Amino acid sequence: MNLKTPLYSLTGIGHQLSYKLKRLNLETVEDLIYHFPFRYDDFSQSSTIKDAQIGQVVTLQGEIWSIANIYTRYGKVLTQAIFNDGTSPLTLTWFNQPYLTKQIKTGDRLQISGKLTKYKNKLSIMVPKWEKVENSLPTTDYRLPTLHTGRLVPIYPETEGLTSKWLRTKVSQLFPQVSNLIVDPLPESIKRGMLSLFQSLSKIHFPQNYQDVEKSRDRLGFDELFFVALATKKARLEWSRKPLIKPLTITENDLNRFIKELPFTLTSAQTRVLGEIISDLKRNQPMNRLIQGEVGSGKTVVAAIICYLVYKNSQRTLFMAPTEILAFQHFETISKLLEPFGISVGIYTGSRKYHQNKAIRIKNKGSKKLNSRFLPLDSNPSVIIGTHALLSDKLNTKDVGLIIVDEQQRFGVEQRTFLRSKAKIPHFLTLTATPIPRTVALTLYGDLDLSIIDELPKDRQKIKTYLVPARKRDDAYKFIEKQIKTGDQAYIITPLIDLSETLQSVRAATEEFERLQKKVFHKFKLALLHGRLSSRRKDEVMRSFREKKIDILVSTSVVEVGVDVPNATIMVVESSERFGLAQLHQLRGRVGRGSKQSYCLLFTDIEAPQIIRRLKNLETISDGLKLAELDLKIRGGGEVFGTKQSGRFEFKIASLSNLTLVEETRNAAQKLLLTDPTLDKHPLIRAKLESLAANVMPD
Ligand code: ADP
Ligand code: MG
Repeated sequence: MNLKTPLYSLTGIGHQLSYKLKRLNLETVEDLIYHFPFRYDDFSQSSTIKDAQIGQVVTLQGEIWSIANIYTRYGKVLTQAIFNDGTSPLTLTWFNQPYLTKQIKTGDRLQISGKLTKYKNKLSIMVPKWEKVENSLPTTDYRLPTLHTGRLVPIYPETEGLTSKWLRTKVSQLFPQVSNLIVDPLPESIKRGMLSLFQSLSKIHFPQNYQDVEKSRDRLGFDELFFVALATKKARLEWSRKPLIKPLTITENDLNRFIKELPFTLTSAQTRVLGEIISDLKRNQPMNRLIQGEVGSGKTVVAAIICYLVYKNSQRTLFMAPTEILAFQHFETISKLLEPFGISVGIYTGSRKYHQNKAIRIKNKGSKKLNSRFLPLDSNPSVIIGTHALLSDKLNTKDVGLIIVDEQQRFGVEQRTFLRSKAKIPHFLTLTATPIPRTVALTLYGDLDLSIIDELPKDRQKIKTYLVPARKRDDAYKFIEKQIKTGDQAYIITPLIDLSETLQSVRAATEEFERLQKKVFHKFKLALLHGRLSSRRKDEVMRSFREKKIDILVSTSVVEVGVDVPNATIMVVESSERFGLAQLHQLRGRVGRGSKQSYCLLFTDIEAPQIIRRLKNLETISDGLKLAELDLKIRGGGEVFGTKQSGRFEFKIASLSNLTLVEETRNAAQKLLLTDPTLDKHPLIRAKLESLAANVMPD
């Protein structure tokens, strides 16, 4: 067995289990070892029944005197056992686990952990954790003799049918078998007194005390940030060694001709960022730049100007959006900006491939029925907007000089393959609205140059934001009704159940939609949008909303963060306490796009003062970066930037709010690359980096 051994190949892990493991992203032995506990049950206090206090969490050793199932009138099963540790008897009770009488027999010696209570005047522990003492594990340097009781017991992220008890048992079995394969890649000069990798991995699963946990987390958190900093820095180094290209010719004249036609003047931030990009394009190295700017700060417009400049150099642009709806929206705005200059714009997504309005219906190859797929067969538009489908081989990518990626897509295998197939590396421009403090951005996006649009267009009205407690909900609904009667439109975001669009969150959204349509807004036209709808349906809904055929769009939060419907002036967020401040700010950015006053209503039924205080920040602060920093202080890392789930890197341990650590690891990475840019002298580090590198730039 080694670290890469797939879990399904192990005895005892069948089809069903490996499917469940996959749901937790656990496929190899290594994945399991890097599946860290998120908390511990403290069962480390051993005691005797006589000495223990009511209410205390204790660990006891003793004998089972009797055990039996009791069936209640309501069809429930209780399993009750009498347990005695030699000082006093104690009643143990479990619910709905009748099989326990097969596992635990009279006379068995058990170690149990749980909270001592008094139930019907008898000393009791309800639902104790238990294990048999004679089955307990041998004592070693890193394990206590028991696993599930009598210690700090690790609690893991679980999934249905896969408990912490199971995971804990598996880790304890597998870890000793691979422990000699865990080699520390960090030299002492970087490690400086931190735990070794082996120690930190063993102690995070099987700590003797909380100090062990803390030290392990320090080391593992360091590694996470260090390797990300290293990956992005190394990618940047490699990018700078790409073959040289011919600089673009950009004249003041051309630029001004375009800017003059815009219906507004650029903000000074837009102008500055434009300048940064143009100086990149005039160099003989491909650009690799990130534009960070609030929603509505005008990134798309800047991108359109760049498309024009690239077109002027007889080169084409691919513009990649994260979803079909956004691709469509960009297609519409960008065509409008570019068409007056005679620039052809096309769209290319999974379900739509056409070139402006000159779409042609063709028979889909390989399928008998006539499919309405559109292909840009007649010409090669100068700008093609689309989704990931843009990188398919079918698209003609001749003369592509610029690739724009909207909303920090994962730079995955597809893109790498695509680029490797190119004779010439195009310029890269990435757009993001995620507010990230600079220090953090320098690590997460260390491979990119950073441009920040830190200014909103002047005419932008402040979105009036109110926290709405349960008792004011009806007033809020009345207010929305009044606004809609004047012709405005509203979004209602349904509660965040899950970060990914699970069936559960879709169900919750559907229920809320039905309630609103029937009970609250029966006079108006409502539509529901969520990630599980077909892309055709999503398009339909968005289009009807844009065309004002729908008054209120009820939607889950994961859908379409970049949509732009200027007539929508009200944003309602249900159960707003479940969102981060920066996330709420992003949702709020959907409104306030036209000249009308816009409103954001944050619903919450929670009355806890600290939650109210947190949300109230949105009433006064309209700077996304400030809110992101507040989030960091209040809630900590990954979650805030969406990096945990959907971003480029996954952090299990490291908190991006620890800015000192963020900087420390970046400096360590920098120093290492200065002395050993190819990492030839640090093969272990290089090997580890390779698995991460898939997330950053192409090699
Ligand atoms: P982002 O992509 O950063 O969210 P957009 O480029 O979509 O922002 O711009 C948001 C809206 O503001 C668009 O309707 C756009 O036309 C408008 N806009 C962009 N720049 C300016 C500006 N300098 N002055 C006024 N309006 C602008
Ligand atoms: Mg945008």
